[in-house]
Amino acid sequence: MKINIAESVKKINQKIILQGWVSNLRIHKSVIFIDLRDGTGILQVVFAPLLGEALGRSPTGEAKKILIVGESFIALEFLEIFSLRGFEVHMLARGKYWGGEKKFGEEGSRIMEENFRLHDAIIHRNAEINFIKNDEFYLKNGEHIKTPLWALGAGLTRDFSFLQNIEKNIGLLCDKYLRTSDPDIFAAGDAAEYYDIFLKRRITVGNWTSSFLQGRCAAMNMLSMDGKAQVFKTIPAYTLVNLGTNLTFLGAVGCETADDIFELSDDNRLMRVFLEKGNAIGTVLINRFSDKLTLSKLIENGHGKEELEKIFKPALAGQ
Ligand SMILES: Cc1cc2nc3c(=O)[nH]c(=O)nc-3n(C[C@H](O)[C@H](O)[C@H](O)COP(=O)(O)OP(=O)(O)OC[C@H]3O[C@@H](n4cnc5c(N)ncnc54)[C@H](O)[C@@H]3O)c2cc1C
Repeated sequence: MKINIAESVKKINQKIILQGWVSNLRIHKSVIFIDLRDGTGILQVVFAPLLGEALGRSPTGEAKKILIVGESFIALEFLEIFSLRGFEVHMLARGKYWGGEKKFGEEGSRIMEENFRLHDAIIHRNAEINFIKNDEFYLKNGEHIKTPLWALGAGLTRDFSFLQNIEKNIGLLCDKYLRTSDPDIFAAGDAAEYYDIFLKRRITVGNWTSSFLQGRCAAMNMLSMDGKAQVFKTIPAYTLVNLGTNLTFLGAVGCETADDIFELSDDNRLMRVFLEKGNAIGTVLINRFSDKLTLSKLIENGHGKEELEKIFKPALAGQ
């Protein structure tokens, strides 16, 4: 239920989400005051001293610092937001390089890390948290980082324990029509582990586009009275821009079953195509968004290295 600021005073001791515009901001030593307004009134929001300090308002003048744990989208968002605001950003990489060797490869990680360093981020390699004591992080590699502010983007685990009689793995197991093991139940979005006709395997995908397209397909298939169900056929795709670097993921990336990799790289661009039994199944692109459509078609049509070399040969020759 949406309430306005005038009504919020009736919600004492209840959790509410405040929305409005900041009409005034004051920073007094380690305390931050915000006057939040909407059409009905003004509410003063006071940030606790601890957060104020963490945000770099420490009376001792301590550096603004954040530790980012996790090597995926959430970490990238935090990196961008905090590094552009002048924080000293520390990022943990669990392996030899940031991003995990399988997905980006050595070259891809080098490009990513170089961009992080351009923005003054500090990367800690082979680094996992051993234990945390107050605001001190002790890493398994012996390093030690002290900061009152940290961000963790460690992903999710799906919990379907309340759905007793449907077959599940990571998600709810579905066929190519998004139908689960119970023919009267369909699944879509983050919940579904569906059979992808291009990749020829069951996969889970966690993004908005796939979720709504699957929702539409599942709904249409629930309605289909004449038995003509639609196959869900979309190569999963995700693109983001982080600190000026364009990242595009298509199909199955960093997949354990990939038995070959086709890679092209130069300076700050990368194309890393994962192949299985000779067929392209997914790709990671850094600053090569314009190749997305071509690669999508190659994956859809099950093409392999020969076709990749033919299409991208001029680039190969130039290396
Ligand atoms: C922090 C974050 C950032 C993201 N950013 C992006 C992005 O930039 N671009 C992008 O494409 N994707 C992004 N995603 C992924 C995207 O949000 C998901 O893939 C998408 O929302 C999945 O849609 P869904 O409908 O399957 O599930 P959800 O959107 O998660 O919706 C599931 C709903 O079901 C409710 N629910 C759960 N269990 C129960 C239950 N037992 N009973 C009743 N209700 C229940 C939940 O409360 C929720 O409202 C992000 C995800 C996260 C967590």
